[in-house]
Amino acid sequence: MQSIIDDLGRFRVPHTLRRDWSVGDAIGATLDEKIGILSLELANEEATHTYSLGVIDSYWRLSLPLTLRKTMNWGTGDTIFINKTSDTVAFTVIKKYREECTICKSSDLAIIMNGRGFCRSCSISIAKATG
Ligand SMILES: [Zn+2]
Repeated sequence: MQSIIDDLGRFRVPHTLRRDWSVGDAIGATLDEKIGILSLELANEEATHTYSLGVIDSYWRLSLPLTLRKTMNWGTGDTIFINKTSDTVAFTVIKKYREECTICKSSDLAIIMNGRGFCRSCSISIAKATG
């Protein structure tokens, strides 16, 4: 399912994913920065999360904290994909990556990191430059 980040960093929980959550539920998020995946789940006292997304408002929106958006390079108007994992209460959010190399704009992507794509040639250049 897709959702779009608005100008205040909020996104709507898609209809088909609303069965397990309710308006007013507090949601926590854990980020896997390397692969650009954010796992969402109901916040409770036992779970530790990297980020708090606050509570689901009456329009079924959640807020992505600014630090998270900066870390992931997520901005206004960006499309994110939200998929339900096998766990019935955990959702996974993945930003739609740009379908071109971040550096040379080639459409032939070899790797995707932090939601950004890189072609083979640029990946090799980065690897060489960083040793
Ligand atoms: Zn490139």
